[in-house]
Amino acid sequence: MKLHILGSNSNGNGYILEGKSQTLLLEAGLPLKDVKEALNFDLTKVVGGIVSHLHGDHSKCASDFIKNGIPLWMNLETAEHIANGKSSSLIFCITAGKQFSIGEFKIIPFSVKHDVPCLGFMINHPESGNILFVTDTHYIPNRFKGLNQILIEANYEASILDNNLYDGKIDNTRYQRVLRSHMSVETCVEALKANDLKGVQNIVLIHLSPQNSDADLFKSKVVEATGKNVHIALKGLVIDFSLNPY
Ligand SMILES: [Zn+2]
Repeated sequence: MKLHILGSNSNGNGYILEGKSQTLLLEAGLPLKDVKEALNFDLTKVVGGIVSHLHGDHSKCASDFIKNGIPLWMNLETAEHIANGKSSSLIFCITAGKQFSIGEFKIIPFSVKHDVPCLGFMINHPESGNILFVTDTHYIPNRFKGLNQILIEANYEASILDNNLYDGKIDNTRYQRVLRSHMSVETCVEALKANDLKGVQNIVLIHLSPQNSDADLFKSKVVEATGKNVHIALKGLVIDFSLNPY
């Protein structure tokens, strides 16, 4: 299993879990062309995609994915937003706590804490084990068992955000919104430490704010707290998500 990072910030979010015979798309915030390029213009393995919430940086290309025959799973609010009054046989509604499958991928969605209804996901596939995917939340209310791979938001650092407010680089409305809807690196570390990380092979820090983050600092903080293999989700990065055979 390979994780492809197409993009991971407010300009557009997209990731691909490419398995040996089946591939799952995570988010629809970047053009299908980017998905095609990452997969050498072969979409035959793509079994579908999941969308966390209706904000454009996660969903703006969903209609295009559907037009091209890719089925998408999402919460009701996102489905209504994307369908825009039309019906589609390729949009599937999911709810927190109810497991569903897309091909060989077994997925449990759970609610997170954003400013619109948003889902996090526990995704299981035999090639990768259990993958936690969580973005756009100011904290994670759940604990997870048997984690093998983690994609987790680390959007801002408290002192960088504060300084940007004092320096006038962001206004108070934006400042308050970030606090209420995105995860700080400090909260990210606490969330990681609250879980058993024994079986975790990779931690990927996603959705870093271009203004309010520091990638090197974030990576070192999470390495120090977890001792794990930590990656920053940079566009174009490909990470081996195959489960160790031992
Ligand atoms: Zn959002």
